Amino acid sequence: MDIITSYIASTWSTQHTDSLIDLYNPTTEAIVAQAAPLVIDPQIALDHATQEAGILLKEMSFSERADLLQSMASLIHKHRDELIELAIINGGNTRGDAKFDIDGASATLAAYAHLGKSLGDSTWLIDGEGIQLGRSPRFHGQHIYTPLRGVAVHINAFNFPAWGMFEKAAVALLSGTPVITKPATTTALVAHRIVQLIIEQNILPQGALSLVIGDIRPFLKVLTAQDTVAFTGSSNTAATLRVHPTLIQNSVRLNIEADSLNASVLCEDVDEDSETFSLFLQDVARDITQKTGQKCTATRRIFVPQDKLDIVCNALAERLSEIPTGDPAQKGNMGPLVSKDQYTNVKEGIALLANQTDEIFGGLGETNMSQGYFVSPVLRKSNDALKATTMHELEIFGPVATIAALKKSEDIEHVLAKGKGSLVSSIYSEDRTLLQTLIPRLATYNGRIYIGNAKIAGHAPGPGTVLPLLTHGGPGRAGGGEELGGLRGLSFYHQRTALSGDKSSVNTIIENIAAI
Ligand code: NAP
Repeated sequence: MDIITSYIASTWSTQHTDSLIDLYNPTTEAIVAQAAPLVIDPQIALDHATQEAGILLKEMSFSERADLLQSMASLIHKHRDELIELAIINGGNTRGDAKFDIDGASATLAAYAHLGKSLGDSTWLIDGEGIQLGRSPRFHGQHIYTPLRGVAVHINAFNFPAWGMFEKAAVALLSGTPVITKPATTTALVAHRIVQLIIEQNILPQGALSLVIGDIRPFLKVLTAQDTVAFTGSSNTAATLRVHPTLIQNSVRLNIEADSLNASVLCEDVDEDSETFSLFLQDVARDITQKTGQKCTATRRIFVPQDKLDIVCNALAERLSEIPTGDPAQKGNMGPLVSKDQYTNVKEGIALLANQTDEIFGGLGETNMSQGYFVSPVLRKSNDALKATTMHELEIFGPVATIAALKKSEDIEHVLAKGKGSLVSSIYSEDRTLLQTLIPRLATYNGRIYIGNAKIAGHAPGPGTVLPLLTHGGPGRAGGGEELGGLRGLSFYHQRTALSGDKSSVNTIIENIAAI
């Protein structure tokens, strides 16, 4: 049986607890490997990372750091097939789901490599234009960004072991910050193998990338204000980090990406025989079933005009019926949930949702599979979206969505607000006058808004795909965090300092430094 261990202080750890954690194949329920939780003085790892890699990375230019990212992107791409197999075995991914994760990782690394090249030979950054501060141009101001001196601790959710690791690590490493990454234990095989490949190929300076298998909490206790924590996962775990004594006491920067009840809205102007209508159906059906609904950006709530409710319910039911649940290695299937716990949580969630909704498709998620953590896609209908609670409050992290009719377009804002902050909402409309009034009102509740219409059909991957050049994160229950967003993402790993003084001194200091 393979045992996966941590990579700490540039060494594969042999120090771990005796309580090995079984990792499963969620399709067969067979144990596929074991994870060995780390036992080590975390300070050793932090010192190694900051003193070895931290100094070296900061001496490198953005262009040189970009080369490291590009090498990792190429390496992941080269080992794509092997990683896809691991994602099928340990994550219950279909090939499509696995590609979404693994290609997402290499694409994000490549995108940040490209951005890094655009920053050239600089090692730090200026923010915006210089500012005249006094009556004469002599007294001058300029904001600068210099990289923090500590480590970036990255805690990832189970659903994207590859992309989740590199949407964070790409930005931190480009900033010159060493990374300590902690994958969710359940699906750690893919993350572990990628780190193994990077270490074997000697791509990064020693200490630039550490991998923690098991409990990350001992590391949190020794962090300082020069370190950062970026977390992706449930709002329950996020809540424990928000009140972590060391993070509070030392003002450690904390970014949180958490739950979200994302909405898809079909507006009144969309005819049922239009391309926009087809795009809406295609996006919603994909976002319910891709990765078996275990996607933070998946559509959970669907709102349609009253007169289109029946036709949309029928059309979505038909599409969902064309996606069988079964062995993820078989093309066209939707795979299992990732673990027994996930299965239990999703089934309990559907039962709660059923108390307030009617069945449209999939009952309570029953399947005819005799083993594995399978549920079928489930579509439920709420008869009063404005009064309903469960559909707006409970994130069922599986292939489950609720549809409801809206009587008037003014209700869109009210129902979206009931999600208490989302990662993404998608609005399907061709009516630019409506969009002009609607979007600014909805934006407050969303980290991202996707406008779906015929013009982007065939050109966009749908609302569920996070793109490296756009910010990812959402207000309120979505965690209030923000990641990616092209060069914006670098600011989390930098200190912004307002520099003021005589114009020629300031200008000499910032000469030849790239701006963002
Ligand atoms: P989770 O149970 O909160 O776990 C997330 C990570 O935190 C795992 O690596 C876990 O490690 C670790 N962890 C658990 N307890 C911890 C503690 N006390 N202190 C520090 N770390 C701790 O979440 P999950 O079940 O993996 O992921 C599903 C959730 O993530 C869903 O709610 C989903 O919406 C959310 N999600 C959000 C985004 C986003 O970008 N907003 C993306 C993906 C997923 P172990 O695995 O070792 O327990």
